[in-house]
Formats: sequence, structure tokens, C-alpha cells
Amino acid sequence: MTTLLVEDIGLLVSGDASEVLHDTTLLIEDGRIAGIGVDHPAPDNVLSAGGLTVMPGLVDGHVHPTFGEWAPAQNSIGWIGNYLQGGTTSMVSAGELHIPGLDFGALTPELVLSIAVTSKHTTGRYRPSGVKVNAGTVLLVPGMTEEHFDRAHREGIEHLKFIFYDWNRLGDGEAQQYVEWAHDRGMTVKMHSGGVSRSGSSRVAGRDVVAAVRPDIVGHISGGPIPPPDEDIVAIISDVPSAHVEVCSSMNYRATKLVVDQLTARGELGRLTLGTDTPGGTGVIPRGMLRNVCFLASICGVDPVDAVAAATGQTARAHGLDTGVLAVGRPADLLILGPVTGSRAGDALECFALGDLPGIATVLVDGAPLVRTRSEQTPPPSRAVTWRGEPAPSARSTPHRVGCC
Ligand SMILES: [Zn+2]
Repeated sequence: MTTLLVEDIGLLVSGDASEVLHDTTLLIEDGRIAGIGVDHPAPDNVLSAGGLTVMPGLVDGHVHPTFGEWAPAQNSIGWIGNYLQGGTTSMVSAGELHIPGLDFGALTPELVLSIAVTSKHTTGRYRPSGVKVNAGTVLLVPGMTEEHFDRAHREGIEHLKFIFYDWNRLGDGEAQQYVEWAHDRGMTVKMHSGGVSRSGSSRVAGRDVVAAVRPDIVGHISGGPIPPPDEDIVAIISDVPSAHVEVCSSMNYRATKLVVDQLTARGELGRLTLGTDTPGGTGVIPRGMLRNVCFLASICGVDPVDAVAAATGQTARAHGLDTGVLAVGRPADLLILGPVTGSRAGDALECFALGDLPGIATVLVDGAPLVRTRSEQTPPPSRAVTWRGEPAPSARSTPHRVGCC
């Protein structure tokens, strides 16, 4: 059994709303959290967090992988590794729709299932740069049968997405049948909401469509990039109380404030999930999830603990993942981070409240240090972490690509 004791933690944010611990420790055994606030007589490794903040790795609930780390939407490669350096340790595909040449007007049940199965068994099988990428999301189209859902389920597919579906068919009950078949198999259904996307081929989905189909997650409710009208946003939040509402980096900032105000007034911030909705027209944003948390906490008035919960435990739970929460028995996917020199914040939560990007020192996935002492994608925190003992085999050494900003 391999043990890692993380000590001298200034602040531990669990990823569950309201839970924050001061001056504590965290014990990791074989990649899982074995104890919080405990000691160990002879751990294999000791990591001093230097008084910095420990929180769960970020869970990006809305990404568009294509093949591995290749992002044809922005003609780039290596994006997943860069997102790891920005603190993202889990991500969920909202559809592999950037495959060059894919004709959104000619999608058939066989084609969408083939793409999802291929993605599940390629990008979704290995961990690009160590990130847990849940790829292989079926783009729902008319004409699917229960057998298609059975096949998807047999292949391990867990997520389905309405984006190119023809909403002129809303009255025939097919879309609602899809949601029922998905739920029978423990799958989650996300719906593209709002105006058309960069593809130009997605269908407008406002209050009438969302309320009729009742997806599990209303995708980018505040814009991806065009949100539904304000009155539709208000109605969706009140008429479909079972649905999680997702805010993405592709957002309309004003509409995001409306969403947060509505959820706050209803005491339902627990429904909020976060994603970047990238790679795509919004770009490749390694620090996108951190910036989402900053925006919620500094501009929208969300308590930073709740904003972290939205970016971690809530998004994981909404998508059926076991990550995003620091608790005994859970995977040790976590970040050590804190204020960058020059910030007047005292800890990472104060950074979020002020809107200052925190600096990441360490990223662990299943207890393995994929980033040991400083991220390549953020400035370093003003305090340093220190390691004692043998580095774990998967450790990366010093950063090799540090640029400005
Ligand atoms: Zn999207």
C-alpha cells in the first residue's frame, strides 16, 4: 500500500457546499482518500502544503473532445494537458461534434452511435495527460430505437445530448421516450439550450422545448453562446425543478448573473453545474474553470465555497461521476493552490471572492502527482509546497513551458 500524507493544509474545501476545514491534514492510500485530520506514523511520502488551500480537482462538465488531445475547432493539440495544468482533473464530453467533415444535416442513428462508441473506446479509454475524460456522448437524432440505447449502454456510454434534434417533432413524444430509455439505463441527458451554436445547425431550444423534454442538465443555460430570452431562463428554472442548470465559459455574462440571482432567490444553488464548452468557438481555455469560479464568486455574489462546490462536487454528481469531493473513500483528485504574489487575498477562497486567479502548486489524480510544485498554466502561488520521500512514478518534473501571464 502506498501512502501519502498531505500536511500543513491551511484550508481544506471539500467540494460539498458549506464544508471548510482549517489547519488540517489529508491521508491518501493507494490513490484514495483514507483520512482527513489524521496522522500516519510512517507514510511513504509527505507533502507539505505550506499553508495553502486544498480543494478537489475541477470537473469540467462540458467539453468537446475529438480524438485524444487534438482540437480541430481551434487547430491545436495538447489541450487536455493544458487543462490539467489549469486544475481540471475530470471532464465530460458534450458530444464529439468537431470531427472534420461531419455533416450535421445528415446524422443518422447508426452514425451518431458509431461516433460515440469510437470515442468511448479511444479518447474515453485512456487518460490523455492523466485527465479522466468521460468521452463518448451520443448526439441524439430522430429515428433511434430502444436497441440503440441498449447498444450504447453495453458499450459503457453514460451520456446523451440533444443538440441537432429537430424540435418540430416535439409533439410526437419521441424525445421524451429517449429520456425515459436513458433513465432506464442510468444515463444522463443534456440539452443544448438557447440559440444556434457555432455549427449553425443546432436547433433553438427555449422554455417550451426544455419544459416538454425535461433533460437532466440544461446545457449552458446562460449562453453557448446565445442564451434563451430572460423570461425563458426564469421559466426553465422554475418549471423544471428537477434539472441541473449549467453555466459555461461560452456564457453571456449578463445572463449568468440572472441565472445565479434566480437560483439564489429560490435557495437552489445546488442545481448549478459548470463547464467551459470548449474547445470550440470560445477557444481553448486551460484556466476556464478557475475563471468561472472567480466570476461566480466575485461578480455574481456566490459564496466562494458554493462556487467551488458548483465546479467540483455538484458537476460530478450531476454527471454520475465519483470525483469532485474530498471525502474518505473518494479518489484523491485534488489541487493545492493559493494567492499569487501581488494579490491581496489570504487564501484561495479569498482569491475567488476578489476575482483574482489563484496560482496552482500541485495537482494530484488518484493520488499521483501530475503537477508537483507549480503549474505551467498559472503564476506560482506565493507560498511553496515541499515534498519528502520518493517521488511517485508518474510524477512530472519541473515545468517545461512557462510563458508570461
Ligand atoms: Zn457545447
